[in-house]
Amino acid sequence: LTERLQNSFKVLQGKNKLSESNIKEAIREVRRALLEADVALEVIKVFLDQVQTKVLGLKVGQGLTPAQAFIKLVEIELTEIIGGEAESLDLKIQPPAVIMLAGLQGAGKTTSIAKLALYLKQRENKKVLVVSADVYRPAAIEQLEVLAKQVEVNFFPSTIDDKPSDIVASAKKYAQKQFFDVLLVDTAGRLHIDEQMMDEIKVLQKKVNPIETLFVVDSMTGQDAAHTAKAFADALPLTGVILTKIDGDARGGAALSVRHITGKPIKFLGVGEKIDTLEPFHPERVVSRLLGMGDVLSLVEEISRKVDHKKVQKYTRQMAKGQFDLSDMRDQLLQMEQMGGMEALMDKLPGMGQVPQNVKNQMIVGTETKKMIAIINSMTPKERNHIKLIKGSRKMRIANGSGTNIQVVNKLIKQFEKMQKKMSSGKIQKMMAKMAGTDG
Ligand code: GDP
Ligand code: MG
Repeated sequence: LTERLQNSFKVLQGKNKLSESNIKEAIREVRRALLEADVALEVIKVFLDQVQTKVLGLKVGQGLTPAQAFIKLVEIELTEIIGGEAESLDLKIQPPAVIMLAGLQGAGKTTSIAKLALYLKQRENKKVLVVSADVYRPAAIEQLEVLAKQVEVNFFPSTIDDKPSDIVASAKKYAQKQFFDVLLVDTAGRLHIDEQMMDEIKVLQKKVNPIETLFVVDSMTGQDAAHTAKAFADALPLTGVILTKIDGDARGGAALSVRHITGKPIKFLGVGEKIDTLEPFHPERVVSRLLGMGDVLSLVEEISRKVDHKKVQKYTRQMAKGQFDLSDMRDQLLQMEQMGGMEALMDKLPGMGQVPQNVKNQMIVGTETKKMIAIINSMTPKERNHIKLIKGSRKMRIANGSGTNIQVVNKLIKQFEKMQKKMSSGKIQKMMAKMAGTDG
């Protein structure tokens, strides 16, 4: 989706006026991009109608080129259709708060239960109990038991001879007695939308009356995701959606369709097979990812989850203010090393979407973390703080001290300056400031 959308913006690049014909062409490109990303047709229509109406009122001038104004509009409308504001789980209820997951077989319900359990335990400090009401396959119950062990939360046993509603009732009673905050309920999947199973889950949902009924859907199923979503949204009073397998869906179409079709907020994204790969859904971040602006906020969040929280908060604040020097960069490099190196983080940086893989590979080699750290170590604190000081003889000294050469030192300096420039661009600063203020 990203690449295509960028094509549509190119149509307007260099133009100093929006005309009927270049607007038309840009919109046609956006339409093609959405079709290719497998966004449901009715959603594309609604979206383009919105853009078309508003494009006429676009204010060009005021420092914005037509292309920029159009991008801004697409960004705003995409964010709107994908859900506007981020919404979290509603757990404000006399415990246990019951959360039920529903969806087709293979969508990722059981996996998502484990991920959610870990998330609630680690991030919200909740005492979590999980239970399986999937009585069609003994292996399904066992799967949840194994996963519960892995994430170290309690598992309430059930068997295929029990009635789903009885299972949940006993689990709930147990949760009450043992002071659990949250009870996560796994349900039987269905291969297709079939009446009988749909009726069963309707009955179960009514009996259990969970505070959250989340629809789990595989984002890789494209147009089908939209149909399934419609069927489940019609049958159940959904409170939200978990979109799984985002890691396999670069096109991002399902996110756009599912939200619009169900009218329910996407609350989480599953971004991998491992159990620590659940991300709270932030519409504006997903949109900036789709538009190829990279996802700086998610990157910062990921770092903050895995490493020293206080430090990250400090960087975020410094970046927001444009005060970020080479010793901070060194600290970050050290932390990056702990997290598995540049490669894993690279794709999330702004602009990386457009960089071809071979160039990325070069950058990884060229920016070998250990070398970079050695170079920064060879600088004086003053040099780290004022990179402009580093000229001729200082460069030589640093190169010798770090066992590298002038070229490598130059490269690092260039890279740092580029990063500084990127970080001081208005948009990223605003995001960073928000992050430091509210999320840190
Ligand atoms: P269920 O039938 O709905 O309970 O689905 P499962 O939880 O058993 O998941 C089906 C398959 O999808 C498993 O192989 C999971 O490892 C995989 N899966 C689930 N969520 C994700 C995700 O976010 N990313 C990836 N790559 N795989 C996932
Ligand atoms: Mg399952």
